[in-house]
Amino acid sequence: MNSCTLSIKATPKPFAWLKPVLLFLLTGLSACATRSAPVREYEWQFRYHAAQPNLTPPTLFFLVDGLSVSALQTALKANRIPHLQAFFLQNRLQLGRAVFPTLTYPNITSILTTAPVNEHPIIGNKVLSEQNEVINFESIQRRGKLNEWIAPRTVFTRLTRQRRTSVSLDHYFFAGATTRQHDDLQSGVAYVNGDYSYIDSKAIDSLTGIVADVSAELLPSLLFIHLIGVDALSHEKGPDSPEVQAYLAKLDAALTPLFNRLIWLESAGTPFATLLTSDHGFMTADLHADLEGWFRNNGDAAQVEILNQGRLASLYFPQHWSAKDRTAVLKSLALQPAVSMTLERSGNQILLHSPRLNATLQYHTANCGTAAYEISFKREVGLRREASGTSQVRFCPDEWDRRQKDFARELPPYFVSLLGSYFYSVKRPQAIVLAADRTTFGGARGDHGGITLEEQLVPVLHRNIRLQSEGPIPTWQLLRILKL
Ligand SMILES: [Zn+2]
Repeated sequence: MNSCTLSIKATPKPFAWLKPVLLFLLTGLSACATRSAPVREYEWQFRYHAAQPNLTPPTLFFLVDGLSVSALQTALKANRIPHLQAFFLQNRLQLGRAVFPTLTYPNITSILTTAPVNEHPIIGNKVLSEQNEVINFESIQRRGKLNEWIAPRTVFTRLTRQRRTSVSLDHYFFAGATTRQHDDLQSGVAYVNGDYSYIDSKAIDSLTGIVADVSAELLPSLLFIHLIGVDALSHEKGPDSPEVQAYLAKLDAALTPLFNRLIWLESAGTPFATLLTSDHGFMTADLHADLEGWFRNNGDAAQVEILNQGRLASLYFPQHWSAKDRTAVLKSLALQPAVSMTLERSGNQILLHSPRLNATLQYHTANCGTAAYEISFKREVGLRREASGTSQVRFCPDEWDRRQKDFARELPPYFVSLLGSYFYSVKRPQAIVLAADRTTFGGARGDHGGITLEEQLVPVLHRNIRLQSEGPIPTWQLLRILKL
């Protein structure tokens, strides 16, 4: 095909990266939620559902959206978050790893359903429905669908079935929770004005109220809080920006009364099992590649449906296209400097196209415990040569995590198991394109969604919990401590 160049330019001005701006303005205009309101509502719900008193220590889960390992380490080194450090870090910093794609919606769903990405329907921030309709979960109109789709499997629902209770201090993810953070007008205005600390402070305030004012025997089994400011600022200013550091210092101050309360409760005999992690890491994005423009200017490729999700895009080809035509476009796209690679599912194979390495990953039915398949990997010469050897090896996904460095060193760690899980999903797209390092198909200064270690790895802080893991622990396994 006659391919033109995928144009790249410096990242433009910050843009509105999430689109729930009208969220609070359009829905649930409760005038002002006071700190005691969630406490009263929770206690009422507890009695209404005749829930059982909680016999195990309550679990408190902080999801700091977009908190990268490097941002946290910088803040620790500069002593910007002393209270957070004192509360969590008696031991060394542990690492977690996200599912692929390293986007918010798939990862929070995986965390809240304790399932890898192929076992739930939220495989992107955007997905294509069976009716070929684009569902963008970042849009507030889709919040109902998001919660409807995840409801059967959330830890909240599973707790409710056991007559245990939970609180979700999250405007997006709450299906099955006994009580949730309600929308209000002031938060909507704060969001529009970029005042994320107002929204986060409000959630922290609700949480502090519940921890401080609910009597010990009524405490929920799970308190989940989703803080959004770090992610928003990392997109707008970059993950390594001074603004993100200043925000972390602000969060530390806002969390201090809560930490003090938790320490006091602990000494009084009510220890909380506390976790803090993130849904994904981040990559600085200096370059913006016009993916839609490339497709528009490449003849028949203009017919391809593109779901642009920042550092990756899902691709859906017209039905009448042959596999050969599809592969030709994907190979041509993989040669663009702004692209790291393209991948497509073809039968029971995943085909990887990149300048230095082409490879075929193939599923084989097997009982691998955590997966129902093994994956074989066959390397071939890349689109611009290189790739040495033609070894073909076959392992269970977990074994791949340990041995990938022996067989596919040039691919990011965990690549085979993560892509294997993603393309095993029944909701998978036909193909995806991954942006090159420091490049985004969106317009943000920082972005994520790709497969690099920077995007995969997240910090995992904890108190009163013992986590067992050789390497970085998959974050979707963390809430298994609830033993549901
Ligand atoms: Zn996120």
